[in-house]
Amino acid sequence: MKQKTILVTGGAGYIGSHTCKALATAGYLPVAYDNLAHGSERAVQWGPLVRGELSDGDRLASVMADYRPAAVMHFAAYAYVGESVTDPGKYYRNNVMGSLTLLEAMREQAIGQLVFSSTCATYGNPLHQALNESHPQSPINPYGQSKLMVETMLGDFGRAHGLRSIALRYFNAAGADMDGTIGEDHEPETHLIPLALEAATDTGHPLTVFGADYSTPDGTCIRDYIHVQDLADAHVTALQALEAGASSTAYNLGTGKGVSVREVIDTIEQVTGKPVPHIFGQRRAGDPDRLVADAAKFQRAFGWRPVHSDLPTIIRSAWRWRNRGAG
Ligand code: UDP
Repeated sequence: MKQKTILVTGGAGYIGSHTCKALATAGYLPVAYDNLAHGSERAVQWGPLVRGELSDGDRLASVMADYRPAAVMHFAAYAYVGESVTDPGKYYRNNVMGSLTLLEAMREQAIGQLVFSSTCATYGNPLHQALNESHPQSPINPYGQSKLMVETMLGDFGRAHGLRSIALRYFNAAGADMDGTIGEDHEPETHLIPLALEAATDTGHPLTVFGADYSTPDGTCIRDYIHVQDLADAHVTALQALEAGASSTAYNLGTGKGVSVREVIDTIEQVTGKPVPHIFGQRRAGDPDRLVADAAKFQRAFGWRPVHSDLPTIIRSAWRWRNRGAG
């Protein structure tokens, strides 16, 4: 049987590149479409890289005409919450208008299945613990708002044109490929685990813990960290569900287990054997006390379980990636 092609926007990025690997392992040919603004060419190893902008509808349509993908996985987006507050236009232009351009190219090329990289930031401030998919979506920053707008478009394109889509709302993606081939390479880096690992090196700056006065047991924020390879595998599962005829829906992807910033630091110290120098700073604007998924819907639908998402495994993989090539 001919290998199916999947177009992966943002395929050179963190979650996109891990998903390209998972697609290839499952027998698909991933075609990465990326402008390399944040992605890295080195991370594209499992299929061709097409350099292009999400805003370039003609280019998208011609790539679709050339490769005839069975489906699209859409990761390409800006994802810095703070920047979205100071430069919202950038987020609405790229994340919303870019996604609209993609959907119109898909419609023109009669490609009817899409897996969308969404986020728990579409929920806003949690009204209760263990967020499930029916929690009201009321984003508190333009990043979350832009992702929610795309979810809305997906629903409308589904009703009008028959597009079938699965939106995956991630909690905190973390860790690196278990074989050490690819990992997290953000520039600038703003995420807790890579910054805390950097602090644990001889040349690193101390980590600033954003707030120790939250209403959590140790005063620091609680998040639900899910290993990027578990996320990538979940995308392949969602794609296969669409191929089998699933109707459009959204799923949370998380572990259901909350971990505090303090616990992340402690676990890094245990795993690496090095201290994580840190100072306590102000709260970061827009950070809720606790964001933990109720991910039962996806687990029930597909029997899926995260297998690499215990914190020591996440940290070990990220540490290995950080120290690649050393000694
Ligand atoms: N955090 C922190 N110091 C940092 C970066 C993050 O204390 O330098 C905290 C942040 O307040 C949040 C958690 O770590 O509670 C995870 O933040 P991250 O930026 O990794 O992911 P986000 O939750 O924003 O998607």
